[in-house]
Amino acid sequence: MNAVIKLVPGREKSLKRHHQWIFSGAIGQVEGDPAPGETVRIESAKGEFLAQAAWSPRSQLAARVWSFEESDTIDRTFFARAVERAVAMRRDLGFLNPDGGCRLIAAEGDDLPGFTADYYAGFIVIQAASCGAEHFKRDLAELLMEATGAKGVFERSDLSVRAREGLPEAAGALIGDAPPELLEITENGVKFLVDVRHGHKTGFYLDQRENRKLVAELVKPGFEVLNCFAYTGGFGAAVLKHGAGSVVNVDSSAPALNLAERNFKLNGLAGYTNTAGDVFELLRSFAQEKRFFDLVILDPPKFIDGKNSLTRGCRAYQDIARLGFSVLKPGGILATFSCSGLMTPDLFQKITADGCLDAKRSGRIFRKFTQSPDHPVALGVPESAYLKGLAVKA
Ligand code: SAH
Repeated sequence: MNAVIKLVPGREKSLKRHHQWIFSGAIGQVEGDPAPGETVRIESAKGEFLAQAAWSPRSQLAARVWSFEESDTIDRTFFARAVERAVAMRRDLGFLNPDGGCRLIAAEGDDLPGFTADYYAGFIVIQAASCGAEHFKRDLAELLMEATGAKGVFERSDLSVRAREGLPEAAGALIGDAPPELLEITENGVKFLVDVRHGHKTGFYLDQRENRKLVAELVKPGFEVLNCFAYTGGFGAAVLKHGAGSVVNVDSSAPALNLAERNFKLNGLAGYTNTAGDVFELLRSFAQEKRFFDLVILDPPKFIDGKNSLTRGCRAYQDIARLGFSVLKPGGILATFSCSGLMTPDLFQKITADGCLDAKRSGRIFRKFTQSPDHPVALGVPESAYLKGLAVKA
């Protein structure tokens, strides 16, 4: 018999709209003594069934919903159905190819809050961010191996958010073969080396897959491109392959740029320079030198990671937009992104407009970007739509 968690009166509303998160402030009575990661039954204050969820007693996010069905049993069979549905979706998208990369499980977006899995050329890399995901990670890893025929599952749960759950960081080969030092994937006809052990997240920013293609298609022969926050050269390689004359890649991480260098060579691409440094500083000096570009790409890290950093983060997005516009040739294009979940598309558009005014330029949006479809959005969890972008012609 699962423990029963009764919510504070009135706090059942978001669950009835199938939001998957239950904050500690909504927890009323705890009947039983559930262990971290154990499945609990969530009821309204009146005792009405609401959901079955994973218990995270130490976290602000005290429970995450596995199912809104009373009749479900949360066991390996339940997770097998979720994994099969998620993998089938990627297959139907044409994203699950032996030499490709794609997100297999996008946490909330696949109704598996706290759990992420990516596929890279025959290997899977997982991240378990919550007690519930930790509890079932081996089952999920085995099921993913079965569903995809992958050779092994590597874990990258070296996540600072685990501390909030009372979980230690964990990384290493979990089941099957260990992946090689570098895996090679092909995305939109471009080859990339992925370092699943040391790279950011699970090694590659798969959420920008479609946008790398869409941005590359904006390039006219000979375009001079500035690729800010370049990481391992994703956008840079895509635009060079599409006929750009030159690309300046900027990132603060030297190891990321070293891998970018290898990626450009792997594809036989020329015309790139890689600059390790701070994008804000570099853009300021380019503006002073009156060095202008046909296309400027801004794909910064998450500047807003909670309500406390909202004002500061918005300021950073506005600054970077101003600096980006200030190095655009007349008629040039700014492709600008935000991966902060708390930044709504409307707010991002407004901040981009403010940055454009600050640079004393004018601009028009002619394309909007969103996260790749292998990062689906749960209708009940609006926060799972996190990536937005704009192409603006100055
Ligand atoms: N566009 C990339 C992903 C970018 S992720 C792709 O398509 O793969 C954000 C990158 O910004 C990271 O590589 C990080 O190292 C870098 N970064 C963060 N702050 C920075 C700063 N102030 N200046 C330069 N690079 C920065």
